[in-house]
Amino acid sequence: MDIKADVLICGCGITGITIAYNLVKRGYGNIVVLEKEDSLGKHASGRNSGVLHAGVYYTPDTLKARFCLDGNKLLKKYCKEKRLPLLETGKVIVARNEYELVTLKELYYRALKNGAKVELIDHEHLSEVEPNARTFEKALYSYDTAVIDPLRILKSLYDDIIASGEVKVFFGTRFKGVKGSSTALTSRGAIRFDKFINTAGSFSDVIAHSFGLARNFKLIPFKGVYRKLKNELAGRINSSIYPVPDIKNPFLGVHFTKNVNNEVYLGPTAIPAFGRENYGLVSGLSAEAFEIAYRDMRLFFSNEKFKTIALVEPRKYLFKYFFEDVKRLVKDISPGDIENSSKVGIRPQLVDWLTKELVMDFLVIKDANSIHVLNAISPAFTSSMAFSEFVINTYIEGNAGDRVSRAV
Ligand SMILES: Cc1cc2nc3c(=O)[nH]c(=O)nc-3n(C[C@H](O)[C@H](O)[C@H](O)COP(=O)(O)OP(=O)(O)OC[C@H]3O[C@@H](n4cnc5c(N)ncnc54)[C@H](O)[C@@H]3O)c2cc1C
Repeated sequence: MDIKADVLICGCGITGITIAYNLVKRGYGNIVVLEKEDSLGKHASGRNSGVLHAGVYYTPDTLKARFCLDGNKLLKKYCKEKRLPLLETGKVIVARNEYELVTLKELYYRALKNGAKVELIDHEHLSEVEPNARTFEKALYSYDTAVIDPLRILKSLYDDIIASGEVKVFFGTRFKGVKGSSTALTSRGAIRFDKFINTAGSFSDVIAHSFGLARNFKLIPFKGVYRKLKNELAGRINSSIYPVPDIKNPFLGVHFTKNVNNEVYLGPTAIPAFGRENYGLVSGLSAEAFEIAYRDMRLFFSNEKFKTIALVEPRKYLFKYFFEDVKRLVKDISPGDIENSSKVGIRPQLVDWLTKELVMDFLVIKDANSIHVLNAISPAFTSSMAFSEFVINTYIEGNAGDRVSRAV
């Protein structure tokens, strides 16, 4: 089979699909998207909290800060145009004590710098917004946070790109390597390309390495386990209640989110996992498990932030510890109100092995005709519509340097 693509995209998650969508909007054609699974949303893009974040957490010099709020507005607009579910209910971040209140205020100033619409609210205002939430003195209210249905968005974007006639998506097709600088080897044969875009999520580092790039970066996976409020109690939560996170690490903490089906999920955790797709206890484990365990161990002894995560998070497999996180957010909850759920996601977190630091921002690396989106972690779903425009502007149409952003 002789296939030639003007643009070959590897990975049909939200990053790859929005790049294809925006390329088509700009008049590009002959685009092929490779997807190793046989349907959409099998990984992070279909396994997340479904929250459209609103520019609260990120330091203003980051790509996350640049694209989160614009991405939020663009996806809201898209949902309205396509009549997809969208709950524009906002969210609150609550503090436990004086120490967290300091961080809450830091988040408030970050959000203002990012152009986000936020307010520090008192108990009275909080009880109007989220009567069941508890906080110490103040809570941060983010007006523009919203909730969407990630799978419905993926499917709609897929329908759009297929309807354009300019994009073919090859499901069940795995990228296996590169020959020379313009032929991809895949499970359905060789595909020649002018431009290759790597949006392979938890395998994006492996694919960049096959192009001889990003050698010092390797991912470690974190498992996000969710539990669920019993359906009959869903009325106790109006929208989303988040804790004050440890802003030195990339995770936001176990939170309550009411989804578009009126179900309230609690989670996700950030437990070090031993496989890039290790969703169950042993499912998704491969020979790489030993290598990942070794990487975790190296990081444990060299990075205090990771050490804290590795010591604290795995305990949350046990309900007792998970519940400790949950009960600090609300006034009225008891262990019997919560049930197990099958919802679980993996957050592939990039590590720079030269500095042994978790990379906090999105990262894009390129060579002459390949572009690699690394570390598309949260809020990459929210940011996708704006971030994909940036990738096209800078790396397909522009002339940027090799690296756009480093850890902050
Ligand atoms: C638990 C959890 C909660 C989150 N909550 C939020 C949230 O509320 N809001 C938010 O904005 N973000 C959230 N995120 C982050 C967000 O989901 C991700 O940042 C985003 O979905 C990443 O999209 P992606 O397209 O880059 O990767 P993915 O969705 O992982 O897509 C990559 C695709 O590449 C394919 N692929 C991989 N290797 C190959 C190969 N060799 N050949 C062919 N195909 C390949 C995979 O099968 C996959 O479909 C959350 C993530 C998790 C895990």
